[in-house]
Amino acid sequence: MSEFDYDLFVIGGGSGGVRAARVAADHGARVAITEEYRYGGTCVIRGCVPKKFMVYAAHFSEDFDDAESYGWSSEKHTFDWNVLIQNKDKEIDRLNSIYIKLLENAGVDLFHEHGKIVASNSVQIGEKTFTANTILVATGGTPFVPSFSGSEHTITSNEAFHLDKLPERIIVTGGGYIAVEFAGIFNGLGCQTELVYRGEQILRGFDQDVRDHLSKELVKKGIGIRLNETIESIELTSKATRKVTYTSGETSIADQVMYATGRTPNTENIGVESVDIALGQSGEIIVDKYSRTNINNVYAVGDVTNRIALTPVATMEGHCFADTVFGNNERIADHREVASAVFSQPQVGTVGLTEHEARAEYSNTQTYRSEFRSLKHSLTNNTERTLMKLIVDGDSDRVLGAHMVGADAAEILQGIAIAIRAGACKSDFDRTVGIHPSSAEEFVTMRTPVT
Ligand code: NDP
Repeated sequence: MSEFDYDLFVIGGGSGGVRAARVAADHGARVAITEEYRYGGTCVIRGCVPKKFMVYAAHFSEDFDDAESYGWSSEKHTFDWNVLIQNKDKEIDRLNSIYIKLLENAGVDLFHEHGKIVASNSVQIGEKTFTANTILVATGGTPFVPSFSGSEHTITSNEAFHLDKLPERIIVTGGGYIAVEFAGIFNGLGCQTELVYRGEQILRGFDQDVRDHLSKELVKKGIGIRLNETIESIELTSKATRKVTYTSGETSIADQVMYATGRTPNTENIGVESVDIALGQSGEIIVDKYSRTNINNVYAVGDVTNRIALTPVATMEGHCFADTVFGNNERIADHREVASAVFSQPQVGTVGLTEHEARAEYSNTQTYRSEFRSLKHSLTNNTERTLMKLIVDGDSDRVLGAHMVGADAAEILQGIAIAIRAGACKSDFDRTVGIHPSSAEEFVTMRTPVT
């Protein structure tokens, strides 16, 4: 009989924590987990999943227009925000209960309270304290809003999912995933939308052609983009109207101002100081390749470690941790060549090196690029253009990166990511027969490098 109440205590019921708890329990460990908000975490409850529903909703406005060129005549379509929110919430409730059932069926003990480490083997849940041989911190992150005059008049993605009504005018601040995705959502749903970013071009870190191409497409779809600009202050001019003053001195009026300026790891009030868990500069928990902190029996996975803040990465980290510690199967989460997508309109899909990164690392980099109007749009008034790029090491012929802006980019890049992970060469792409007519076939028909 163990001296501890549990073999594993997990703090945080999001993607990483839930996967780790379930897998550890499957390996025979006695596991408990606690979640202070709702099981499912950011991704399921107020992130990827509800966001994707809203992206679908927003895209219909364009689809209705395109449909007319294909002979469909439609009445004037109207949009009801409340219907979307209610249906989205119903599905999130269903997913939340599935997460709880999965844990229960795996034999995990569930708590619904804030958890705090009080000693290297003790976790406090409300009034009770439990002991565990191993503790896993999977507490995720929280939207970060810089402090400035009037910052209390802003919303973040957390609130955007539950607004009482759709704003007529919205300003979205930030140039990352969340800002770009929500600008597309609000614009597609009919709001007058402005995207404000402090840098030269949105999506810093992405391939430069992707950034420029997407930016142009967003503007074509009606989003106003202000670059090299920061909000200095926000003033409430009436109950629902915000006057925004920029550092340049210019002003805008909006009904909502949304901040998507990054996320902060949730390490406050979880007891990291009680056992001296080492934190990094952004407050993230520092871990080694096994997701182990500086305290031998305390591990951390997911956004709280600020490695790659993506759900499938947190899940991978949680799974590797559980296999290694409880499954007698040492596994290290591999953070290389992780594909990702920005669910902007049009979407961005990306895997591997950008052209800039490849040129810095390889002396003989070749770039293949194709830009075109998709077959679907050639019959419509839709001027959206698709961009595809392959980055190749000219010496070994290996494909180092693939990037796309266009319809279904996420779906297409998932397949390309398998090829790149498998070490595919450009010649493998070349001898792959395309699926015709499709946009994806362009990835196997680009023959001449542009640079
Ligand atoms: P990101 O880190 O992607 O982007 C933050 C943006 O805010 C950057 O453009 C940054 O500018 C800007 N910013 C930061 N601080 C300030 C400030 N003080 N004033 C003005 N602008 C500022 O964060 P997000 O919030 O968009 O998303 C968090 C993470 O969640 C992402 O990195 C991603 O890993 C994940 N995510 C993934 C999604 C997906 O897979 N589709 C969807 C949503 C989120 P700068 O570039 O100059 O630093």
